[in-house]
Amino acid sequence: MELTASQLQELIATAVTAAVSEAKKPYISDEQKRNIADAQQARKEQAGLHRQMVEEKIRQQKLCTHEHARGDTHGVYVQNGNYILCQKCQSVIRPETDPQTFSKIFQKLHNSEFFGG
Ligand SMILES: [Zn+2]
Repeated sequence: MELTASQLQELIATAVTAAVSEAKKPYISDEQKRNIADAQQARKEQAGLHRQMVEEKIRQQKLCTHEHARGDTHGVYVQNGNYILCQKCQSVIRPETDPQTFSKIFQKLHNSEFFGG
């Protein structure tokens, strides 16, 4: 279907009118406001989620024995930082903050890796 010249003109006029009235709207449209509110809500939820994850991680670290059920350890010794990292709960165990746990895991690592036990 071909448009006549006047139909085309009308179409253009309508489009221009729409564009102009759109342009006269305040800078932030209702839709934009909603989007912003949504984004803020999403950020809030994200932050809440992140906090939950951090809390969950701390909870796991408190529960984690850094050991397998059969007695091996999840820890790996990081020599250049002189700490043990638990690969299960991501705890960092430093000799200066937790000497007991550190030496316990260190000994396990020592025994299994260096003496084949
Ligand atoms: Zn652990």
